[in-house]
Amino acid sequence: MTKCIMRDLEHAASQNKENLELKATLKAAKLIHKTTCNHSGGCIDPDECIINFIGKRNEEKVFVGTNDSNLRNSLRNIGVVPIFFFRKEVLIMDQPSDQLELKMQIKEKLKLEPTI
Ligand SMILES: [Zn+2]
Repeated sequence: MTKCIMRDLEHAASQNKENLELKATLKAAKLIHKTTCNHSGGCIDPDECIINFIGKRNEEKVFVGTNDSNLRNSLRNIGVVPIFFFRKEVLIMDQPSDQLELKMQIKEKLKLEPTI
């Protein structure tokens, strides 16, 4: 949870004050540990902030929980982050991308190679 995500949630909650689900989400989000954004400047689009935070290697070893299919597709293209989402109230881990599968196969193959 970054400052950009929190700001977006607060903005959405202020625009939809009767939306109890959003209100509960904001309340739960306030309990989650906040991390510092990896970009400079002020707040940016939360999706961009998440992608920026993960970077090319996901060095922070984070996972992303989102039901936003566009964000999931963007994250799949990076191929270094586990993605979780809800389908009919069941938490599901997204299938690893082809890119990630290939990386893992190469890594496993290298483990079998003799070292000098
Ligand atoms: Zn940010």
